[in-house]
Amino acid sequence: MISLSKVCDQCKKYVQIPLIENQIIACPECSKDYGTLASLEKVFDHCPVCQGRQFYIQKDFNQALGCLVMLIGIVFVPFTLGLSLPLFAVIDWFLYRRISSMAVCYRCHSEFRGFKIPVHLKPFMHHIGAKYDR
Ligand SMILES: [Zn+2]
Ligand SMILES: [Zn+2]
Repeated sequence: MISLSKVCDQCKKYVQIPLIENQIIACPECSKDYGTLASLEKVFDHCPVCQGRQFYIQKDFNQALGCLVMLIGIVFVPFTLGLSLPLFAVIDWFLYRRISSMAVCYRCHSEFRGFKIPVHLKPFMHHIGAKYDR
């Protein structure tokens, strides 16, 4: 499914909104209207929510899950003579590889899933992020 996820400006809930061409992007919780999506192909030219023009690419997975897997590995170290750490690192790597990427808008932090991500998008860069985080 092609979708946009963000924390709604109005109701402050994290919502996932399906993106359909020529349809209004509206919060499913409070119906806040974010405007009409003109074209799916042009999403990465101008963010449909904030008109921002810069996006970064990110692995679409709950980073807390990755940390948790490592943490469990560390906890078990004394019982497995350190073997669990490389094992869990492998599991972590495996999970990471299976997870698809999403694009995130620098300005409004909307997450775009289900897209073919343009090749020019790069992982998050702090100097660009800092520009928007004021
Ligand atoms: Zn809302
Ligand atoms: Zn945006």
